[in-house]
Amino acid sequence: MYDYLIVGAGLYGAVFAQVMTGQGKRCLVIDRRKHIGGNIYTSVKDGIVIHQYGAHIFHTSNDEVWKYINRFARFNHFVNSPLAYSKGKIYNLPFNMNTFNRLWGVITPDEAREKIAEQCAEYRFERPSNLEEQALQLCGKDIYHLFIKEYTEKQWGRKAHLLPASIIKRIPLRLTYDNNYFDDVYQGIPIGGYHGLVQNLLEGIPVYTEVDYLKNRGEWDSKARRVLFTGCIDEYYNHCFGQLSYRSLRFEHEHLDKADFQGNAVVNYNDADVPFTRIIEHKHFEFGRQSTTWITKEYPQAYEKGMEPFYPIRDAENLKRLEKYNELAASTPRVLFGGRLGLYAYMDMDDTIEAAMMMVKQELNSKGV
Ligand code: UDP
Repeated sequence: MYDYLIVGAGLYGAVFAQVMTGQGKRCLVIDRRKHIGGNIYTSVKDGIVIHQYGAHIFHTSNDEVWKYINRFARFNHFVNSPLAYSKGKIYNLPFNMNTFNRLWGVITPDEAREKIAEQCAEYRFERPSNLEEQALQLCGKDIYHLFIKEYTEKQWGRKAHLLPASIIKRIPLRLTYDNNYFDDVYQGIPIGGYHGLVQNLLEGIPVYTEVDYLKNRGEWDSKARRVLFTGCIDEYYNHCFGQLSYRSLRFEHEHLDKADFQGNAVVNYNDADVPFTRIIEHKHFEFGRQSTTWITKEYPQAYEKGMEPFYPIRDAENLKRLEKYNELAASTPRVLFGGRLGLYAYMDMDDTIEAAMMMVKQELNSKGV
C-alpha cells in the first residue's frame, strides 16, 4: 500500500513525489505518456538536446525554488533574448531600447519615453477590458500592429479584442538596452536537458509509463491511500459540467544539415501570413557547436479531444465551469489536484515547483496520510 498515487510524471508530480518521499511517505508515480517529464521532456539527437514540447527556459526569483532545483541538475548561464521577425525585419525582444531604436531611430530613454507617450496618446482606458485595449495603452499603435495583434490572434485563434487583458501583462517593456526577456534573479537551462533533471527527482521512486489511470482507476486507486491527479480536472470528473477550453500546439521538428539556421535560440514570427508563431533552434540553448542543427516550428491549433492541451483559456465562462469542478474536488478530499492541468492555470516552472512544495506542506500539516 502506497501513501500517494501520483498520476502524471511531469514537473509537479515529480517534485511532489520527491519531497514527499523525503518526508518518509511511499509514492507511486504513473503516466500516460511513454516518457517522464510531461511537457518539459527533452530528448537528445545528434548530440543536441531537443525541447520536445517547446522551449522551456528556467527562471525564478525564488531562492528556495532555485536552491531546491539545483540539487537535481547543473544549470548553464543561458539568458533568453528572443528576436521578433515582422514585415521582413528582425527586432529585439522584449520591447526595449534596441527595439525602439530600430523602429523609430530614438537613441535615449527620454526620446523613447516621449515617442511611446505619443504612440499611446489616443488610447486612454480607465480599465482596459480586453487585450487590444491593454496593449494599445501599454505600448501604443506601432508596437501593437507590428508585434502583438497578429501574433496574438494566431496564438489564441481569437480576435485580440475578445481576449482577456491579463495575457499581455506577461510582456515586459523597458527603457534600457537590455535584451534579457526575464526580470528574474536566476535563469538557465539544465545542462544535458530536463530529462535528466526529472530522472534525478524521481530516483528511487517507482514509476510506470504508458499507463492510463482513467481507464482503470479502481485498480490504481486501491494501491494508495491518497491520489494526486495532475491531468485535466474536467476529464477526471468525466466532463460532468462540460469541457474546459484549451489552446493546443503542434510541434514540427526538423533536422538541418547546416551548423546554424537562425543564429539565436528563439525567433518569433509575428505576421499573420506565417502559420507558426516561433522557431526554436535547440543547440543555442546550450551554446552547441555541432556541425548540424535541429529546429522546431510551433503551430498553434484548436484543441480537440486526444490532443495535448497546452494553454488554459481562462475566460469568464471557463472560470465558472472550473469553480464547479473545484467545488466537487473539495467534496472528494482523498484526491488532490495539481499542476497546470489539475489547476487549470498557466504556470511557469518555478511556480509549479513552489506549488508542489506548498501542497506537500499542507498535506503534512493536515496529516493527510
Ligand atoms: N506576444 C505577442 N508577441 C510576441 C510575443 C508574445 O503578442 O512577439 C503575446 C501573445 O499574446 C502571447 C503572450 O504575449 O500569448 C505571452 O507570450 P509569451 O511568449 O510570454 O508566452 P509563452 O507562449 O512563451 O508562454
